[in-house]
Amino acid sequence: MTPPAGPAPDRRPAWQRLHGALMPDYNRPATVYWWTVVLLGAGLLVHHCLWLASQPWATWLQVIVAAAFAIGVGLFPVRLPGTRQSFVAGDIFIFLLLLMQGPAAAALAAGVEGFVGSWRTSRRATSWLISAAVALLALSVVGRLPEALARALGESVGPDHPAVLVGAMLLFAAGNALVTAQLIAGVPRLKRAEPYFQWAALVRDFRWVALAYLGSAVVASLLYLTTLQSGIGVLLVVLPVMVLLIVALHYYFLQQEAAEAMQGVAARAAAEAERHVAALQASEQRFHGAFIHAAIGMALLDFDGRLLQVNPVLRALLGLADGQPAPAHFQDVVDAADRAALDARMLPDAAAPDFSPFQLELRCRHADGRTLWVLAHCGQFTEPQTGAPCLILQLQDISARRQAEAGLQRLAFHDSLTGLPNRRQFLDSLADAVEHHRTDATASYAVMYLDFDRFKLVNDSLGHTAGDDLLVQMARRVQENLRPSDIVARLGGDEFAVLLPRLHDERDALQLAERLVEAMRQPFDVAGQALYAGASIGITFSRFGYTSPDEVLRDADTAMYQAKSLGKGRFALFEPGLHLAVSQRMQLEGDLRRALDEGALTVAYQPQIELATGRAGGFEALVRWQHPQQGAIRPEAFIPLAEETGLITVLSDFVLHSACAQLVRWHALDPAWAELTVSVNLSGHDITSRGVVARVTEALATTGLAPRHLVLELTEDAVMTRIDAAAANLRALQAMGVHLSVDDFGTGYSSLARLARLPIDSLKIDRSFVHDLAEGNHEAAVVQAVLTLGGALGKQVVAEGIETLDQADQLRRMGCIVGQGFHLGYPLSAVEATAWLAAQSAPAAPLH
Ligand code: C2E
Ligand code: CA
Ligand code: CA
Repeated sequence: MTPPAGPAPDRRPAWQRLHGALMPDYNRPATVYWWTVVLLGAGLLVHHCLWLASQPWATWLQVIVAAAFAIGVGLFPVRLPGTRQSFVAGDIFIFLLLLMQGPAAAALAAGVEGFVGSWRTSRRATSWLISAAVALLALSVVGRLPEALARALGESVGPDHPAVLVGAMLLFAAGNALVTAQLIAGVPRLKRAEPYFQWAALVRDFRWVALAYLGSAVVASLLYLTTLQSGIGVLLVVLPVMVLLIVALHYYFLQQEAAEAMQGVAARAAAEAERHVAALQASEQRFHGAFIHAAIGMALLDFDGRLLQVNPVLRALLGLADGQPAPAHFQDVVDAADRAALDARMLPDAAAPDFSPFQLELRCRHADGRTLWVLAHCGQFTEPQTGAPCLILQLQDISARRQAEAGLQRLAFHDSLTGLPNRRQFLDSLADAVEHHRTDATASYAVMYLDFDRFKLVNDSLGHTAGDDLLVQMARRVQENLRPSDIVARLGGDEFAVLLPRLHDERDALQLAERLVEAMRQPFDVAGQALYAGASIGITFSRFGYTSPDEVLRDADTAMYQAKSLGKGRFALFEPGLHLAVSQRMQLEGDLRRALDEGALTVAYQPQIELATGRAGGFEALVRWQHPQQGAIRPEAFIPLAEETGLITVLSDFVLHSACAQLVRWHALDPAWAELTVSVNLSGHDITSRGVVARVTEALATTGLAPRHLVLELTEDAVMTRIDAAAANLRALQAMGVHLSVDDFGTGYSSLARLARLPIDSLKIDRSFVHDLAEGNHEAAVVQAVLTLGGALGKQVVAEGIETLDQADQLRRMGCIVGQGFHLGYPLSAVEATAWLAAQSAPAAPLH
């Protein structure tokens, strides 16, 4: 165990410890000097005390009285006017004692006085001791001077020679002052390692002491002479009077000093006030300068807005020409729209005592008529000249910032392509309408959701620039048909929404929807081509009690889907049951996507027969979907869905590959089947899309089928509405050697002139004509016309939907070469079709 750390015991000798405690700041010379002086003083003290012991009691008494007077009077220093020095009159009594009892007595009294005086003014015992020792030394040594001097002159210091007495005393006083000063100054000099003797400093520091000593010496001499003449009793009268005089002087000068101090304070206060006034004037001038030269527009105004003063920047801001008077009131330049806001802050508040400064963004009118946005700070201000309160206005031109903000606002709330409000802005406006209807049931509104039926097609086939162009035209066309209060917004893609606030009659909305559908049916001119977009519109009304704008849009969207599924290019009204239909549709879309992914679709093959011979010329490939829950789903139910969702590309590729691969297999199976063809249906989306030629080429290449065995069927509607977009693709496909056929011919509105120019190899008469075919009727005329036309244009004609032997016979008689229909053969699976082919190849199969 180690002992706990504590202060190490001090092993120095006792005297060193005492020295450390008494004078830690003393170096060796100073210490030696101090001890020398103090020990000398102590020796003298002992010597003088021994001497005093041999003296009569009167001497004792005189020493004590002199010391007491010296100490007492020392309490009342007389401040020398105009200096920082004081005159201490105590030395008079010591000097008097010197004259009366000699140096030893005086030295004793001086020692006591020196000790007490030092004790009063210093806290260090070293000072007390050396002060007493110095007084003892000085008086013991220098006190012998008068006697010695007189003796040297052969005179005696006595009443007979007052001049000698006074002269000797003056000499003594001067010597005493010097010796005392030097001995006292010695300590700090040695401590600082400075030269011990410095006469200049000695004279400077102690000249007042010397002066006081000299004065004291004169007074003491006079008192002494008086006692010699009139007896010592006179002192009993004179001394108290002297003490009183000294005390009175002390207090007089003290008072004087206080008065002077008071005067000083007053003078300082006056100077201060003067400076304050000057500062005020300077500040006023500075204010004026700041006002005039400020980089910001400033004005002083009355509480009612009357302009008192306008600075140059503000004049420039408002476009005031030189010399043109400023408007009377600030409100005169503020835009009417912001005046109320300004008055609300300025007028009532400003008059109130607790007016609070405010800040507003206001529109102001520039002299040239333009509108400026300014940031206005308004504060209260005391008019320097009159001292009356007024308003100070600071105006900053923030037009650029507001403009930038407005630009950002536009960006945030508008669609940059069409310039229409965007979804965010629309939802805001719709939220207002919804809220308004909730508080006021008569404030009805309607919302329409528009979707363009063939926008995707244009965008994919003609590119985004054309798509953008089309969108802009659509937006304009919608807008042209609206009332000024209606709001149309682009929600994204080709989806637009229209809000009809303040709807008086729901029939107004229906009429507008009809107008829009009709307007959208008209062709658009995009890049020099006529495009048919067509729009499906869903409408919903406030009466369904919506609480949020999202609900409104959701229902309008649902109604729009309904319009699309009812056959596009029309509008549908929302009704609560629609949600189910639409959600089922969405479900189906998901299922179809999965079926395509998992290869759950199959292809059926329907024979195409040469009517004259009954031989199979080929097959039409028809897609089949066996839904796991809903069973077989008709292509009419899911092909449009695939077109809308873009799944059609995958679907077409699947059928194309399957059909080509199957045909290659048949070709290989039997040489008799080597010239069979396969017809594949392409959707309108396929034939206008850019990749279609590559996709067909790829299918042929991977399966190894010759192009002349492939027939692509395109519906008349699809070809004709997008004839320009499709033409290039069709030409390329035909150039490859692929056979092109127009499906459902006769149902569309194709002009025969255009048809003639199209790269088409065959026409497929729609089954509706075949179905109603009867000798000499309208349908027969149409079929005959088509057959004639086909013959004239060099195009093969195929009849589909042949369900009876009569139909087959009649068509054959009319000159139709190829036919297809349940009577000739149902759509079959690949396996069934192979068996069917084999049966056909067997000899003498009758045509039933
Ligand atoms: P479509 O191109 O006119 O195809 C012929 C449709 O007529 C087939 O219906 C077929 O089963 C049916 N059909 C054949 N013979 C007769 C008949 O004697 N009487 C009657 N009433 N109908 C007959 P399906 O397979 O239901 O196809 C319907 C439509 O779906 C097709 O009409 C075609 O437009 C489309 N489709 C079918 N498969 C595909 C495909 O793979 N791709 C594309 N894009 N569309 C397809
Ligand atoms: Ca077809
Ligand atoms: Ca057809």
